[in-house]
Amino acid sequence: MSECVFCLIVAGAAPAHRVFEDDTVCAFLDIRPIARGHTLVIPKSHATDLSGLDAETGAELFRVGHRIARAVQGPAFAADGANLLINDGKAAFQTVGHVHLHVLPRTHGDKFRFASGLVLRRSHEPERVAAAIRSGLAALDTAATDPDTDTG
Ligand code: 5GP
Ligand code: ZN
Repeated sequence: MSECVFCLIVAGAAPAHRVFEDDTVCAFLDIRPIARGHTLVIPKSHATDLSGLDAETGAELFRVGHRIARAVQGPAFAADGANLLINDGKAAFQTVGHVHLHVLPRTHGDKFRFASGLVLRRSHEPERVAAAIRSGLAALDTAATDPDTDTG
């Protein structure tokens, strides 16, 4: 078994608050969130950095990150925006050697809370936070299949 903590999460051998998974990627809450709902989207197959990631998997990583960014801006979570970020390589402060896309929900006027989150990085009610993101994703699915809903 790999020593990689994210591979252990994919295998179910390490705990995580999952919000989404498909055949290619898995998304779960960051254990030390900078902001409420800070989520990581990772490829299920180990790739240390972007040089080891195929383009299709990279596209799927962003597709899911894009959906999570939209989901947290729905009524279930009510963020006003999101930062999506990959730290690629140690020079870019990558600390876990398994590619991951950060999705950081933002709210208007959260500048000081976000700055303190960068330092404190405390997890608060992760079950509830993960459930709210899952609800936001489910609402996107409903909107996509409901002919009366304008999905923009
Ligand atoms: P990086 O600096 O490599 O872009 O970010 C790595 C992220 O992984 C950090 O935000 C850190 O809190 C998160 N992380 C590290 N170990 C674990 C873990 O075991 N579980 C979860 N859920 N997140 C982790
Ligand atoms: Zn790994």
